[in-house]
Amino acid sequence: MRRAVRRRVADLNLDAFEKDELTFYLNATYTTEWGADLSPLSARTVDEGKEYGCTGEDAFLPDGYDQAAAHLARNLTVDVGVVVRRVALRRGGVLVDTNAGPIRARAVVVTVPLGVLKREGIEFVPGLPRLHERAIHPWVLVC
Ligand SMILES: Cc1cc2nc3c(=O)[nH]c(=O)nc-3n(C[C@H](O)[C@H](O)[C@H](O)COP(=O)(O)OP(=O)(O)OC[C@H]3O[C@@H](n4cnc5c(N)ncnc54)[C@H](O)[C@@H]3O)c2cc1C
Repeated sequence: MRRAVRRRVADLNLDAFEKDELTFYLNATYTTEWGADLSPLSARTVDEGKEYGCTGEDAFLPDGYDQAAAHLARNLTVDVGVVVRRVALRRGGVLVDTNAGPIRARAVVVTVPLGVLKREGIEFVPGLPRLHERAIHPWVLVC
């Protein structure tokens, strides 16, 4: 793909702005869609739109990516609609306060979006380590 693009672009005499635009377009349209740099992609296959198969459906993982999540969660109990308000370390584990009552656990993995941490949507007791705080609030001086 990269070779095909280079060959075509060489004749076009693009200025710097147009080159930037083209790079943006190629990234947005091909690199992110195919999950790969242009070099290993085949211009012929990409051109034929084979990522969607002949039916227009996903060809890489027919029936959708949620199969991966379903497989990983097959032996887990998943509660939805439970809002965590506080995560507190306790001897031998963690106490999690939620809108559905407290949950005790040996450990907690926090995967909420950064925005939730920025607006301190969850209270951590004790507070998060300084390095984490600095990553969440890079412009705030943590004393
Ligand atoms: C419109 C749109 C289209 C997208 N399209 C694509 C795509 O085509 N391909 C792709 O790869 N990516 C896509 N993305 C990006 C992708 O959705 C995210 O990168 C991905 O979902 C991030 O996963 P995450 O687990 O980090 O966060 P999230 O999926 O945001 O999960 C965080 C979870 O934490 C929960 N949460 C927040 N606060 C609390 C709390 N206090 N207590 C309990 N739970 C809480 C939230 O409810 C949420 O369920 C898209 C995103 C958007 C917005």
